[in-house]
Amino acid sequence: MPDYNVGILGATGAVGQKFIRLLQDHPWFTIAALGASSRSAEKTYREAANWIEATAMPGTVADLVVRECEPSQFTGVDFVFSGLDSSVAGDVERTFAEAGIPVISNAKNFRTDPTVPLLIPEVNPDHIEMIGSQTFTKDGSGWIITNPNCVAVPLTTSLKPLFDTYGLESVILTSMQAVSGAGYPGVPSLDIMGNVVPLISGEEPKIHEEPLKLLGSLSGGTLTHADFPVQATATRVPVINGHLLSVTVGLHKKPGSADEVKELYRNWKSPIADLDLPSAPDYPIFYYDDERYPQPRLHADAENGMRTAVGRMRSSAVLDLSYIAMAHNTVRGAAGGAILNAELLVRREYL
Ligand code: NAP
Repeated sequence: MPDYNVGILGATGAVGQKFIRLLQDHPWFTIAALGASSRSAEKTYREAANWIEATAMPGTVADLVVRECEPSQFTGVDFVFSGLDSSVAGDVERTFAEAGIPVISNAKNFRTDPTVPLLIPEVNPDHIEMIGSQTFTKDGSGWIITNPNCVAVPLTTSLKPLFDTYGLESVILTSMQAVSGAGYPGVPSLDIMGNVVPLISGEEPKIHEEPLKLLGSLSGGTLTHADFPVQATATRVPVINGHLLSVTVGLHKKPGSADEVKELYRNWKSPIADLDLPSAPDYPIFYYDDERYPQPRLHADAENGMRTAVGRMRSSAVLDLSYIAMAHNTVRGAAGGAILNAELLVRREYL
């Protein structure tokens, strides 16, 4: 059984807390060190964190003393997960990689770097090889890997079978994003209760760019991005967990019917299905036949929040197909996705 000591950077935040909850009984990874800002450093985790998870704070972390996010404070860990605020993640993550400590990050800072894999294990596991072209350390011991934006995850996962089978011409979507995506305390209650906010600042460019990197092809160490336009409208809705997307796609090859596409989803096999990774869901894409589904409140937690749920597949009068996709934003779209990335890196012997 693999056995690793891990650190968490940004451990006091919303994503950091999700890491702690998901790692508390992990069979391979043991939390050995927690880091946050100087506001939290030197306090016990119990004192520093405003715990917002619905389960009790694990006793194994409550009395750990929070450290500054400096590599010298993290000796003895095999790698770190990062849930750092993006205003500091770039510099801090680089410092750790340069010190020979691998970083598995949720932050946006390195997602577009041409040497850094942006990874969804079920979509582009081969992109891990890009780690070999990173130069943070001379001996290759320090590197960075990122997971995508929390909308890009269900969007790209649901696009993958369509991209491989029919080819994508164009994608238009509206995302209805949960408030937990804004961290804590997040969106003011007077803005969001009984309301929809039609703009999430800075979100749409990430949704436009990241699927193209994720669906890119790697050859001779060079990644060629996929080439189709994506137009997103990102909105915030009064939902706690689970981003729901209304997606319409244009395809190069036309499917015979919407039923054919439903079968494609039902029969799709993930490229990591046989690796027996502890956090991998049995159904990374789950197609709901009931036209009322998927719904965030009913389905975001299915398979520990690691699924992309798809439903309402139908022909589009404007492009070719329309459907609904949904995933848990702080699990599959953040901490859970990063943990699955780490598990794949273990299996592929990068860790
Ligand atoms: P958050 O709740 O605001 O937490 C931010 C964390 O960063 C806290 O632990 C904070 O520590 C730490 N931090 C802030 N300034 C720091 C500094 N100068 N030095 C060291 N640590 C510092 O944010 P979040 O929602 O968890 O998001 C964390 C990251 O994940 C962001 O980059 C975000 O874009 C990304 N992400 C979030 C989601 C989501 O659904 N929420 C999804 C995907 C990706 P203190 O408590 O000490 O201030």
